[in-house]
Amino acid sequence: MNGDMPGARHEAGPFGEAGHDEAAERAPLLQVGRHLRAALMVDDTGRVAWMDSVLARAAGWEAEEAVGHSASQVLARLGWLEHAVTAGLRGHEAACEGSGRGHRLQALVLPVFDGGRLLGVCARLRVVEPRTSGAVEAGGGDLDELERVRRRYEAIVDGIDGIVWEANEDLRFTFVSRQSERLLGFPREQWVEQPDFWERHVHPDDRDWARAYCLRAFRELRSHEFEYRMVAADGRVVWLRARVTVAIEDGQTAKLRGLLVDVTEQRLSRERLEQAHSVLRAIFDSITDGVVVVDVARRITAYNRRFQEMWGLSDEVMRSRDAQRALMTAAPLVKDSRGFVEAIERGYSPGEETDVRMVELIDGRVFECTSKPQRLGDTTIGRVWSYRDMTSERRANIERERLLVAEQNAREQMQESFALVDTFLAHAPVGLAFLDRDLRYLRINDALAALHGRHRDEELGRTLREMNPLMADTIEPRLREVMETGRSISGLEVSGYVPATPNALRHWRVNYYPIRAPKAVVGVGVVVVEVTEEYRAQKERERLLREAEEAIRVRDDFLSIAAHELKTPLTPLKLHLQMMKQQAAAGNPPREHHVDKALAQVSRLAVLIHDLLDATRIQAGRLELRREPVDLQSLVREVLAQTTTPGHGHTLEHDEPEEPLVVTGDPGRLAQVLTNLLENAFKYSPMGGLVQVSLAREGDLARVSVRDHGIGIPEDQRAHLFERLFRARNAPISGFGGLGLGLYICRDIVERHGGRIWVESELGKGSTFRFTLPLAR
Ligand code: ADP
Repeated sequence: MNGDMPGARHEAGPFGEAGHDEAAERAPLLQVGRHLRAALMVDDTGRVAWMDSVLARAAGWEAEEAVGHSASQVLARLGWLEHAVTAGLRGHEAACEGSGRGHRLQALVLPVFDGGRLLGVCARLRVVEPRTSGAVEAGGGDLDELERVRRRYEAIVDGIDGIVWEANEDLRFTFVSRQSERLLGFPREQWVEQPDFWERHVHPDDRDWARAYCLRAFRELRSHEFEYRMVAADGRVVWLRARVTVAIEDGQTAKLRGLLVDVTEQRLSRERLEQAHSVLRAIFDSITDGVVVVDVARRITAYNRRFQEMWGLSDEVMRSRDAQRALMTAAPLVKDSRGFVEAIERGYSPGEETDVRMVELIDGRVFECTSKPQRLGDTTIGRVWSYRDMTSERRANIERERLLVAEQNAREQMQESFALVDTFLAHAPVGLAFLDRDLRYLRINDALAALHGRHRDEELGRTLREMNPLMADTIEPRLREVMETGRSISGLEVSGYVPATPNALRHWRVNYYPIRAPKAVVGVGVVVVEVTEEYRAQKERERLLREAEEAIRVRDDFLSIAAHELKTPLTPLKLHLQMMKQQAAAGNPPREHHVDKALAQVSRLAVLIHDLLDATRIQAGRLELRREPVDLQSLVREVLAQTTTPGHGHTLEHDEPEEPLVVTGDPGRLAQVLTNLLENAFKYSPMGGLVQVSLAREGDLARVSVRDHGIGIPEDQRAHLFERLFRARNAPISGFGGLGLGLYICRDIVERHGGRIWVESELGKGSTFRFTLPLAR
């Protein structure tokens, strides 16, 4: 059949006879028909609008003749086609097959619509079997023509981007186009050869309903369109849009035919789109800003609940989608409603970009309004207004500003107070400081910083340990205790060394007190008062007191000893005098023995009194000495000659060098020294024993030693022997009478002669007193 239909033929064809309106009405149908290369076009009234000459002959008509006649009349011989055309005029696609002029012909009948109105139907035909010889009604040349058309149709079908198929009513494929291999990957033959091919490859979830759809199409003789899934050879799930039509042949429904188009991508994009849409919708509804979108025709295309609530717009207003109405409802709520309306109007003018402004409402609310153009590509298709309720934020801002001012004032006042405190701190005569919990100086005054040998500025932020390492171990535990317990420590006496005077022990009285913030102790305050002078004065006072007490005790001891010593000779003296008196009364001369004894006691008293007088002179610095050459050998001999041993086992020895030893001095006083030492040697040797006196030269010095084997002197007492009124504790009063003045006087005399006196002793074994004198030149 010849699908080639020159346009001129149609225009000058049967429509020339028809009225002008009729021809105009048919023109779109003819145009579609030409595109489809249809062999038959029937208008909506059922009349033939155009017919291929070959088909016309098969129907027993001339092509030109057939135009304008009713299709049922023209197709009377080709009943199978007439049925399909009738279905087409009812709006259903139909495919059918039948014979004409000895060929098996297949026809696809398509209804043609224009905006929902049926214009008519177009039928495309193809030869499906080669014609049998002799059965040709169309003449010899038509066979080739039919073959050529068949191939062309096949090429067309294979070129369609989808699977063109045909199946029996039991859904067994009788034909699939080549695209089937590309879309699902199965060889084309499998589709046709396997009776249950479709069953096996349709997605299990879709199998039942998709089959039901096809069968319904078959039953109702009308086309169906739906989407279902098939599983491709490589396991992919492929979404297909199926269009199923029913082919009617010879008035009998014979086959299902249709087109399967791969819509997997579309499905995925649709799903993605739907997801994106739902996300956007959720966001749109959940944001706290009120948003409205208005298109260029001033219709509300989108809004959220918040917008409606903020402006108190009724559902009815919103449903009307009328942006102007919404604006007029909202404007009276705004303080400057005219300005508000004008600003909105300006928003609609082209080229108006993003705009942000504040909108104040009569009820005190404040909205920040942002408006932006809504664009689709380069085209502005509307505008988006979003409103943010800034009321509480603005109130908070006002409150914040108020607080800032108050805080600023408070800070200034505090700074003034601090300046006062700083001045006070800096110049206070006592050490003051504040330390934080890490024991770093937050504030410190000059007085305290000076102890560390620094200026106060150098100490800020530094730790106590850095600034005063010498005392950190003493002070830190106390400061920590104050912070831990929250209790102050007052009047603590602290002694130690500070960097300013590392070698001087100094003393302070300190107070530590906690610095409290509302919830915790945040540091510690320190007040340090130097009491070194006070401390020294106190120590001095204590020493003086001790000395005074000692002096009183010594005096009392002395008085009791002196009284005892002075009284001791008086009793025998009195006794001897009485004896002498009795002797005199009896006319007898006093016995010499009594006289000697009386004189000895008087001498003893005289010695005591001399010692007392000498000690007083020494104290007053008035002991006078003669200065003359003294031959020590002669002096020693004289003293020994005058000394009488007290008897009971005492012996006296002496030893002297050949050469004369002459010193310059007072011979009487030097003799007094030697006498005293000799008397002590006897006195403190109660068991008797040898007393040795020796004189020797020692370089420029003459040395005199008196050695005894008596009670000795305890070691700790030796250093004090030469002090005034000192008596060693092992010197009992009875039998060893003495005032503790003899050695004191001896030392003074020896030292005033430029010499030295000392003792060597062993307790219980005896003592050796020695003194040296410089020899005269
Ligand atoms: P006193 O009058 O008490 O003897 P001294 O000044 O002569 O006073 O002596 C002081 C003290 O020294 C004595 O009281 C005695 O304790 C001790 N002393 C002095 N000479 C001797 C000595 N040879 N052996 C032991 N103790 C002595």
